[in-house]
Amino acid sequence: GQAGWMGSINSALQSAYNQYKSLNEGKNADYIPALAQVPSTYFGIALCTGDGKVYEAGDTKQLFSIQSISKVFTAALVMQESGDQKIEDTVGVDATGQVFNSINAVEQFKGKEMNPFVNPGAIATVGNVKGSSPDEVWAKILKIHSDFAGRQLDVNQPVYKSESDTNQRNRAISSLMSAYERFPMDPAVAVDLYTRQCSINVSAHDLAVMGATLAFGGRNPVTGKQVIDSSHVPGLLAIMSTAGMYDDSGKWLFHTGLPTKSGVGGGLVGVSPGKFGIGTFAPPLDAAGNSVRGQRAITDIVRQLGANPYAQF
Ligand code: GLU
Repeated sequence: GQAGWMGSINSALQSAYNQYKSLNEGKNADYIPALAQVPSTYFGIALCTGDGKVYEAGDTKQLFSIQSISKVFTAALVMQESGDQKIEDTVGVDATGQVFNSINAVEQFKGKEMNPFVNPGAIATVGNVKGSSPDEVWAKILKIHSDFAGRQLDVNQPVYKSESDTNQRNRAISSLMSAYERFPMDPAVAVDLYTRQCSINVSAHDLAVMGATLAFGGRNPVTGKQVIDSSHVPGLLAIMSTAGMYDDSGKWLFHTGLPTKSGVGGGLVGVSPGKFGIGTFAPPLDAAGNSVRGQRAITDIVRQLGANPYAQF
């Protein structure tokens, strides 16, 4: 019954939290200097179900920069505005087999046949948001993130400044993608908006609600708002499955089956379609760039709750 399911969720979260709380593996990202300053001990796990109830363990209200997880929601915006085909045609929907900020991948595929979750594809996705000014585009990007989270989100200014000062590589990628005519926006504007979007502050609680909005066909189960049409969700989840966890996406899918997106700030958002969204925060990353404790926690919770989408029989 309902009480049994709720009890199972609470005990799955609590036991994962207790088990991995003191796990000391991995290291904060430091190529964005502000991320190295975030206390490594933060650990939060939140899970949101279809009735809008959020289950929590640990530091679930602590804010941190969303980083690459934002790529999912801006891709959702472009799909909603311009159709799924727009993403397939402009940046592609295939894993590149190369690191997330690879310039070789851009050259190899002439700016196409990548996906919206590697930096070239993500910056081009931002560059394809419709709008007559940078402010108008930014307002739309912030709004869709806020609608997915069910509350007004804001930018972490120190992280935005820190990354703006050190994002030469992404500026190069933006220029290169512009040279391949992947988007109509000024490339300096596109990379700035991209950097700002990566600096949006969220909590594990927010990520759980954002994931649950995808798990329930684009309808936020807390606010009841239909944020995107349900037709865009399967495609987004497919890209999360193939390219959401950097170069460990296959391994992750093998173990959990869960469409999940990772960010270098230490966040993870996972989606069990029709069941729940899960958000975690723990800054230290493994060699692939994924949160160590977040991965362990989600893996255990998915097993305990029988939530692997490939094991629904
Ligand atoms: N803003 C970061 C970058 O572009 C995001 C990286 C990530 O989370 O994967 O380098």
